[in-house]
Amino acid sequence: LSTWSAVPAGPPDPILGVTEAFKADKDSRKINLGVGAYRDENGKPYVLGSVKKAEQILTTSNPDKEYLPISGLPEFNKAAIKLAYGEDSTPLKDNAIAVTQSISGTGALRIGGAFLGRFFPNTKTIYLPNPSWGNHTPIFRDSGLEVKQYRYYDKKTVGLDFAGLKEDLKAMPENSIVLLHACAHNPTGVDPTPEQWIEISDLIQEKKLFPFFDMAYQGFASGNTTRDAFAVRHFVKAGHQIALSQSFAKNMGLYGERVGAFSLVTASAEEKARVESQLKIVVRPMYSNPPLHGARIASTILNNAELYQEWEGEVKGMAERIISMRDRLYDNLVAQGTPGDWNHIKSQIGMFRCGRFRVIGIFTECANDDICISASLVLRNPRLRSWRRRHTST
Ligand code: PLP
Repeated sequence: LSTWSAVPAGPPDPILGVTEAFKADKDSRKINLGVGAYRDENGKPYVLGSVKKAEQILTTSNPDKEYLPISGLPEFNKAAIKLAYGEDSTPLKDNAIAVTQSISGTGALRIGGAFLGRFFPNTKTIYLPNPSWGNHTPIFRDSGLEVKQYRYYDKKTVGLDFAGLKEDLKAMPENSIVLLHACAHNPTGVDPTPEQWIEISDLIQEKKLFPFFDMAYQGFASGNTTRDAFAVRHFVKAGHQIALSQSFAKNMGLYGERVGAFSLVTASAEEKARVESQLKIVVRPMYSNPPLHGARIASTILNNAELYQEWEGEVKGMAERIISMRDRLYDNLVAQGTPGDWNHIKSQIGMFRCGRFRVIGIFTECANDDICISASLVLRNPRLRSWRRRHTST
C-alpha cells in the first residue's frame, strides 16, 4: 500500500486551471482571458524596454550570485516603499516603515498573514471584499487567520455597493483586519472614488479596524503611479498604521521574476527595527531569503532617473491601451446592438470586468459566477462577430 493512497485529488486552481484548458484547446482563434497578464497588440507577452535596459546594465556590471539578506535587497526595499508611500510620507521620513522584499504580491500577502497571525494583538479575523482575488482566502486561511467578507460589488448596478460596504464596516467587531485593494480591484474592476476612500478611511478609524492594502496594480489602473497610490497615501496621512503588499508583476511586467514587498507602518524607528527583526524570523524558515534577479531589475529602474522616467511612460502606455481597448469593446458591443447595458465596461478599471454572464462567450468565468476579461485582448479579434454568433446561446 502506498503511503499516499489516501490522498484525495484536489480541484484545479480556478484561475490557473483556465490556462491549462487554454493550452489543451486546439482552436487557432483561442484567446486566454483567464490570467491577469498584459498582452501587446499582437496578443504576445510584453517585456518592457526599461526592463531590458536594466538587464543590460546588470549584465555589464557582472554581478555575483550570492544570497541576499533575509529581507532582501536594501536598495530595492527603500525604492519600493518610496514608490508606494511617496517621498514626503511622514513615516517614511521618520524611518518608521518596516519592510521586507517578498516573492511578488502573493508572497507579501503570505508574510503579512503570517506576521499578523503571530503578532496582531486582537482577534485574528480578516475581512475580504466580496468578491476578491481568488487566492486571498487560501492565503489568509493558511496563515491562520479567520476569513470573513464584507459587501463590495453590487450585481444590480455592476458597480460599488458603497452603502453595503459602509454598513458592513460599521458592523465589524472593533480591531478586526480589513483587506482593501488599493486600486484596480480584482476581479470587479470597481474602485471607490477618492471621496469614498476618505469616508472609508474615517469609518475604519472610528471602528479601530486595521487596514491591510493589497496593491498589485500601482500605475496599471490610471497610468499614473501617484494617482493609483491615493488610497494608501491618504490612509497613512490620516494616521492609520497600515500593512501593505506590493507587486511588481504587472506594472513592470516581471510576473515570473517574483518581485514584491511587504511593509508595515510603525510608530518609530525603534519599533520598526523590532518589527523588522520579527519579519525576518517569519521569512527565514519559509524560504530563507528572496530571489535576486528581479529585485535587481526593479531596483535598477527605480533608482535610475532615466530608466524610471522610461518606465513611467511604459506603465502609462499599458494602462492607456487597456483603457482604449475597453472603449473599443464598448463601442463595438453597442454598434452591434448587443443586448444589455455596457457602461460598466468603461467605468470599471484595470484588466478585469465584472458583469452578467449572458452575452458573449469570449469571456472566461472567474471564481464567482461573474466574468472577467483581459480587456486588452478582446476587440483586436476581428472574429468577435462569429464568436458572438457561436456563443450567444450559452
Ligand atoms: N493581489 C491581487 C489583487 C492580484 O490580482 C494578484 C495577481 O493577480 C496578486 C495579488 C498577486 O500577484 P503576484 O504574486 O504575481 O504578484
